[in-house]
Amino acid sequence: MLPIMVSVTVLASGSKGNCTLVASSSTRVLIDAGLSCREILRRLSLCGEEPSRLDAVVITHEHADHVAGLRVLARRLKIPIFITGATYHEYQRCTRDAAGKRVSLERHELFQSGSAFQIGDIDVMPFTIPHDAIDPVGFTLRAEGIKVGICTDLGYVPASVRDHLRGCHVLMIESNHDLELLRGGPYPWSVKQRVMSRVGHLSNDTLADFLTTDYDGSAEFLILAHLSEQNNHPEIARVTAERALGQPSLLHNRLMLAPQHEPLAAVRL
Ligand SMILES: [Zn+2]
Ligand SMILES: [Zn+2]
Repeated sequence: MLPIMVSVTVLASGSKGNCTLVASSSTRVLIDAGLSCREILRRLSLCGEEPSRLDAVVITHEHADHVAGLRVLARRLKIPIFITGATYHEYQRCTRDAAGKRVSLERHELFQSGSAFQIGDIDVMPFTIPHDAIDPVGFTLRAEGIKVGICTDLGYVPASVRDHLRGCHVLMIESNHDLELLRGGPYPWSVKQRVMSRVGHLSNDTLADFLTTDYDGSAEFLILAHLSEQNNHPEIARVTAERALGQPSLLHNRLMLAPQHEPLAAVRL
């Protein structure tokens, strides 16, 4: 019998590109393809992962930092791309190939937020998140008794999202910005407003509120993700989350920060 093993490898996280590998002992799924295809393949091999063993890509939303490498990766690997109908439509509307032509993903599989689907032995549950994209989702993935939650690009944490994130053994969640750094930072006011809005990105403090009041402490690994390079500092994000978790629960939580420019060492359960 194969040993029970589920792993989560964040290849990149942040506004310059997002891509995470979730693997069971028999199935490998990429969440988003927001780096160039070449860079995704490079980072996979850095992590000892064989691209030809990927089974599928699932897409959270159409923003460039989540789909930049999708067209080339899909053509290269010829694996199914799971995407919602609205996101696919919007992706096609905004994407052109090198010749300026509209892009079709040959093997796309449409899913709906709120309806679970299966890839190999991984059960995928997409759920709606509040973000300024056409049909944005987070995911929980279950395999071999392990539940993984992936939830970035959201303005706040509504009750429905809190419900989905209960009982995760690995929770990757956004800790995008420090409000003071954002307010005093270089972004134009309109962009600052967008980031801070209910359909923008989760601040360190809003995440801390979630961790203090609604988080069930179930995760063995907590991964802070989609950190802003301009408007956050890893230490501020870490300390804010640690404080919110408090000392007793901290003992049970392995807290990590997902970097932008290199992969995070795989989390294995
Ligand atoms: Zn993003
Ligand atoms: Zn986004």
